Amino acid sequence: MFKKTFITLLLSVILFAAAGCDSLSPVHPPRQNTIQIPENTPGLMKVNFIDVEQGDSILVQLPDGRNMLVDAGTRDAGIKVINYLKNAGVKKIDYLVATHPHEDHIGGMAAVIRGFKVGAIYMPKATHTTKTYIDLLETIQSKGLKITTAEAGIKIIDTGGLSVFVLAPNSAAYEDLNNYSAVIKLTYGKIGFLLTGDALAQSEKEMLAKGTDLRADVLKAGHHGSYSSASQGFLDAVNPKYAVISVGAGNDYGYPHDAALRRLSGIQLYRTDLDGDVVFITDGVGLQVSAGRI
Ligand SMILES: [Zn+2]
Repeated sequence: MFKKTFITLLLSVILFAAAGCDSLSPVHPPRQNTIQIPENTPGLMKVNFIDVEQGDSILVQLPDGRNMLVDAGTRDAGIKVINYLKNAGVKKIDYLVATHPHEDHIGGMAAVIRGFKVGAIYMPKATHTTKTYIDLLETIQSKGLKITTAEAGIKIIDTGGLSVFVLAPNSAAYEDLNNYSAVIKLTYGKIGFLLTGDALAQSEKEMLAKGTDLRADVLKAGHHGSYSSASQGFLDAVNPKYAVISVGAGNDYGYPHDAALRRLSGIQLYRTDLDGDVVFITDGVGLQVSAGRI
C-alpha cells in the first residue's frame, strides 16, 4: 500500500516536472494593447515584425490579400522566415524588398525566393562583394526575376486608401552601406508605418531636408536601435505612437544602445529580443498590437 502511494507520488512529481518543461514561457510576458479588432473583419492589414534574432524581417499582409516582405533576416533565420510565412498562409510574395545588402537583412532571402512565388523585387543600387549577396543575385536571376531600383520617389503601391512609397535613399552614393537602406512608408487609411531598414542619421537628415511627410503611427527604429539612428529631429517629424526595435539578445554590437533608447522613451516600445514576434493589425482606423513567443 505504502509502495503504491509512493509510486503514485513519484509519478505525479515526474509528470508535474515534465509539464513544467513543456510549457514554454516567453522571455517577456506577451503584451497587447487594449484595442481589439476581430480577426474576421474584412480588409485588415497585418504588419508582422518577425523575431529573427539579430536582423530584420517584416511581413506585410496587405488588405487585398497580397503580401510584401521587407528583408529576410540572416542565412540562419531563413527557415524561421519561411515557416512564419507558411503559417501565415502566404503563397506568393507580391512585393519583396531587400533594404540593403547586409547579411542580417538579405541572408535568408535566397531561400525565401526559392520557396515562394515572387512578384516584384526592390533593392537599392548598392553593391556588395559577399557570397551571400552574390548568391541572392544569382537566385533572382535563375528564377528570371527582375530588380527594380529602390530609391526615393518610387511608388510601389498607390491606390486610394493604400500606399507604399520609398522615401530613401536620396543620394546616389554613400560611404556607409547602411545609408543605402530603402525606407518604406506604408499607409492604410489613417494608419502609417515607417520601415527604415538600417538608415543612419545622414539618410534621416536627407529625408527631413526634402520635407518628406514622415508622420507614422509605427516606426521601425533604424539600425536595430543603434545610437546612430532615430535622431531627435527625425523622431519629432515621425511622431510615432509605437516603435519597434528588431534586435537579437546578446548581439555583438551592444544593440540597442542607451542613447537611442533614451530618445525613444515616451514612445510605446516593442523589442523582438524581449517581446518575440510583434504584430500590428489595422482596419485603417484602429491599431491593435500583440507580441509574444509560442
Ligand atoms: Zn542590420
